Amino acid sequence: MKIAFIGLGNMGGGMAANLVKAGHDVRAFDLSEDALNAAKESGCTVFGTAKEAVEGVEAVVSMLPNGAIVKSVYSDDVIGGAPAGAVLLDCSTIDVATAREVIAMAQDAGYDMVDAPVSGGIAAAAGGTLTFMVGGSQTAFSRAQPILDAMGKNVIHAGDAGNGQAAKICNNMLLGIHMIGTCEAFATAKKLGLDPQTFYDISSVSSGQCWSMTSYCPLPGVGPQSPADNDYKGGFATGLMLKDLKLAMAAAETAGVDTQMGQRARELYEAFAEDHGDLDFSAIILELSK
Ligand code: NAD
Repeated sequence: MKIAFIGLGNMGGGMAANLVKAGHDVRAFDLSEDALNAAKESGCTVFGTAKEAVEGVEAVVSMLPNGAIVKSVYSDDVIGGAPAGAVLLDCSTIDVATAREVIAMAQDAGYDMVDAPVSGGIAAAAGGTLTFMVGGSQTAFSRAQPILDAMGKNVIHAGDAGNGQAAKICNNMLLGIHMIGTCEAFATAKKLGLDPQTFYDISSVSSGQCWSMTSYCPLPGVGPQSPADNDYKGGFATGLMLKDLKLAMAAAETAGVDTQMGQRARELYEAFAEDHGDLDFSAIILELSK
């Protein structure tokens, strides 16, 4: 397929490369020269504007920083620029309301469109092992699925437009909360005289077990390889966790849900991000175990 890819940063670069590997003709646009050079090296054709990149394509995929940018790229360049009948996939993490607004604009102009945010970081984007949570009509989902399959290992239809974003921020609110809980448990165990490895051996097969402990342990040398074993470099940046917690808190407020643990997680990550926004989010254990 002829696919335009807009936003080839840390995540989009790897995702576009996987579309090339799957045999697609990928037309790339990014504001960054470096991102475009890397895209060229992975086999994309690069363009100087989004309008040129979407000319004559069958699909458009975007991986952009926030909702305001997604809205402007779609309303200025993609809607009306891409041929009628192209399927549109926004994989960025953005607020639910903007996702629904952009999809409604696209539908009014005759396009099928999905919001398809991801779980998984830069390594999963490069390795093609992302999980996509997809919002949109059944028709839009069925058209998007084969494209998403080339970039991920799980593609799940979450319901109507915006439900992909809803799933993403609820998932990441839970992730932020259980990472903090895991860090507090390790810090307390240690101060009570319990060896961290021994606590891991017990808790990982007991009722405290969770993903933050057994798949992404915040302590170096304990559990499987994780960013903790690499001085908290790589992985999922604290700044991005904070972004998602802010989106989750805004959505919860709009929906009238009292998310006290989510709110506290947002506050703790906000304080930690002041000096450590680039470190993996599990590095918050450095603060919580002081
Ligand atoms: P990034 O900053 O590395 O990449 C974003 C890219 O978009 C940049 O290359 C930038 O130049 C480009 N861009 C910005 N405005 C543009 C415009 N108007 N037109 C064209 N290109 C434009 O960010 P990232 O880490 O790749 O994240 C992208 C999205 O994926 C975000 O929504 C983020 O929340 C989400 N996400 C990131 C991760 C992660 O681990 N990095 C994990 C899951 C989801």
